[in-house]
Amino acid sequence: MTDASLSQLTSGAYEQALQVIESVEPRIAAATRQELADQRGSLKLIASENYASPAVLLTMGTWFSDKYAEGTVGHRFYAACQNVDTVESLAAEHARELFGAPYAYVQPHSGIDANLVAFWSILANRVETPTLKRLGAKNVNELTEADWESLRHEFGNQRLLGMSLDAGGHLTHGFRPNISGKMFHQQQYGTDPETGLLDYDVVAAKAREFKPLVLVAGYSAYPRRVNFAKMREIADEVGAVLMVDMAHFAGLVAGKIFTGDEDPVPHAHITTTTTHKSLRGPRGGMVLAQEEFAADVDRGCPMVLGGPLSHVMAAKAVAFAEARQPSFATYAQSIADNAKSLAEGFLTRDARLVTGGTDNHIVLLDVSGYGLTGRQAESALLDAGVVTNRNSIPGDPNGAWYTSGIRLGTPALTTRGFGHDEFDRVAELIIEVLTNTQPGTTKAGEPSKASYVLADGVAQRVQEGADELLEKNPLYPGLVLG
Ligand code: PLP
Repeated sequence: MTDASLSQLTSGAYEQALQVIESVEPRIAAATRQELADQRGSLKLIASENYASPAVLLTMGTWFSDKYAEGTVGHRFYAACQNVDTVESLAAEHARELFGAPYAYVQPHSGIDANLVAFWSILANRVETPTLKRLGAKNVNELTEADWESLRHEFGNQRLLGMSLDAGGHLTHGFRPNISGKMFHQQQYGTDPETGLLDYDVVAAKAREFKPLVLVAGYSAYPRRVNFAKMREIADEVGAVLMVDMAHFAGLVAGKIFTGDEDPVPHAHITTTTTHKSLRGPRGGMVLAQEEFAADVDRGCPMVLGGPLSHVMAAKAVAFAEARQPSFATYAQSIADNAKSLAEGFLTRDARLVTGGTDNHIVLLDVSGYGLTGRQAESALLDAGVVTNRNSIPGDPNGAWYTSGIRLGTPALTTRGFGHDEFDRVAELIIEVLTNTQPGTTKAGEPSKASYVLADGVAQRVQEGADELLEKNPLYPGLVLG
């Protein structure tokens, strides 16, 4: 099918779908139309967002949403799951092929769910199974109350070492307010205070001293690649399970930009991911595992999950099929190339970047040199049609709410077709906003970390500059709504 006829079909499908929605709750139809207009009309630089294809999006809007299918393929606790079995098998097969993984579990509803499945699989494998064996029990139901209590105590007495939030780790990597920081005794590793880079010797020393059951690698806001072979060596030395959360950079793994030591899948015991960031699929999660952990991961339901979202599993299958096309490798290479262009665009304009640059899809801009908090910068940029998110930087004096950084990512605008020149211009537009923004004051005239004053005319000028780029690189070209 040609691109033009596909666009025509897509336009028809969405227009008709919106009319159906309109007949029930017009405000939702209106908000859906407005969301498309807003996404089309702004520079989306949120590193964790993307634009899924119409095929992926349309796959989610079907009657698979209505089906319960607790269990696994061919082993369901509900009747009439034959079509869900087809969907789940296909999604898992595509995932195994795409990532060269022995085992793929595609049921997690989100990245957090995927990490919960991983944590409890590790506990099942390393704590529950040996305990049951020792006690001669087949499963936990056969344990006496006293044995069950002691197993519960064991579950609650395990250790996790992960990257700290301000160094770029995720909430689920042992951050105290998150369940991962409560169900485990946790310690965190950071980055080198001078360079902002991971120091594997420091991670190894912490691991030797702390002796975690789980070593977590992966990040949400670290603008560099990680050597997962080294992380596995560290895990092996202390008898830990290496869990890699590749939620952010799964697209770069799928596109074979991260290979060898930088590909987590062959090195980690368990790899988790979201499917909606650089991988460009539907919102969801997934767990990949080595054979040793496959049976444990397979128990995600009932361990921590209920019924899978069959419509989303179907969309995962479609997205993975897309990611197996050669064009996805080209896309992934462009994500990384564009991040470099964006970083260069900032550096040539004297901005300070955490780690001094990037070699993945993230650029972390320190805005303190402009006298701003991340919160002020994020708000001023939004006024000009530039959508970013504020982010802590290592050792951030402004904490996780106000922050001193802005995190930028290239996956979404790369999907729109932006290249080197466009990203250089994006850097220029962002610097124009930052250099024309002053910190504001509270109503009482005190210095504020939230309010800001953007010089007259700048928002409009920058939005016009953004519009020029956006119009040349339309989102969902050919998709026309009435
Ligand atoms: N893991 C990492 C590294 C992430 O960056 C995120 C989300 O930002 C998640 C997990 C959680 O994903 P979700 O929002 O789908 O639960």
